[in-house]
Amino acid sequence: MSRRSLHTPAPDAAALRARLDRARGAAAKADTDALLIAPGSDLRYLIGQAGGSFERLTTLVVPAEGAPALVVPKLEAPGYADIPADELGIDILTWVDGDDPYRLVAGRLGKPGRVAVSDFTPALHVLALRGALGAAEQILAGPIVRELRMRKDAAEIDALRKAGAAIDRVHARVGEWLRPGRTEAEVGADIAAAIVEEGHDRADFVIVGSGPNGASPHHDVSERVIERGDVVVVDIGGPIPEGYNSDSTRTYAVGEPRDADVAETFAVLLAAQRAAVAAVRPGVTAESIDAAARDIITDAGFGEYFIHRTGHGIGLDVHEEPYIIKGNDLPLEPGMAFSVEPGIYQAGRWGARIEDIVVVTETGVESFNGRPHELVVLDA
Ligand code: ZN
Ligand code: ZN
Ligand code: ZN
Repeated sequence: MSRRSLHTPAPDAAALRARLDRARGAAAKADTDALLIAPGSDLRYLIGQAGGSFERLTTLVVPAEGAPALVVPKLEAPGYADIPADELGIDILTWVDGDDPYRLVAGRLGKPGRVAVSDFTPALHVLALRGALGAAEQILAGPIVRELRMRKDAAEIDALRKAGAAIDRVHARVGEWLRPGRTEAEVGADIAAAIVEEGHDRADFVIVGSGPNGASPHHDVSERVIERGDVVVVDIGGPIPEGYNSDSTRTYAVGEPRDADVAETFAVLLAAQRAAVAAVRPGVTAESIDAAARDIITDAGFGEYFIHRTGHGIGLDVHEEPYIIKGNDLPLEPGMAFSVEPGIYQAGRWGARIEDIVVVTETGVESFNGRPHELVVLDA
């Protein structure tokens, strides 16, 4: 978790108030007396500011009944000066070194029966809260907050669309940098700079998997020198100032691919990715989208080379709900945004992946990535 700059664009107060109201309702529905929201994406979602988590406790107390309170060290309170606390009805409770912030939380809640803590709350805070809250049962807040964050509103969809367009502009330029004789790391550095130039806050990840490295789905970059004939997986993304992330993969060939099986295999992958995107609409399950891609790849004999789920939700986090995976029978609803990214990985030889971010619309699907999906054969 990192500290963000203070003046990042945040949703307006009315939108945040609606989210806090829904969070309260979700807590009540889950028989939970309060949500204890740690700094990070959940906090940014609810108050427009992600803050930072350190050894000193910062937590947003969202009771099922009553006003929320932000418990924050006095020395870090200026970082929250921009949140519309009055309009949101949030009390700011500061504490100084030597105070017991966990008692401050307990004082606010009385004797709760059950509290939900953010999934990524540091253990030192979780255990200290357990001590301060006596008999209260602790559960994860993730499943409660996820119900809100999984369905994006219009402003969030706009932000994801903007992030998609920005990463498309970077993919459009990959041919400038991906050349024989350069290392993956050199190419990756150019791509990372372009990710920022094209409107992101930073490059969160840059995968340049050339030749055999393309068969490792979460490869980063290496000192491998790119050769003529290599197939190269380029998977890149990062957050735009609104906090929403891009994530897009295209597969390139540096000149005509060296391996004879590339064209035929890639055609299978392309058909699988298209079929999965085309299957997206309200009411179908997340796992049916995985199956739409996987069945085509399996039927072509490549099932064992498709070694990950078909996709993940995306928003303020790069990976969030809903996961597009076998076993997830969640029915898709308008506003759910996720990746569709099947891959075929031939260990020791080469790999390929195609990834778009899509959103479920009232009638079907919109893709935020518009670059051609075919193998991009660069002049070399
Ligand atoms: Zn991934
Ligand atoms: Zn990706
Ligand atoms: Zn992804």
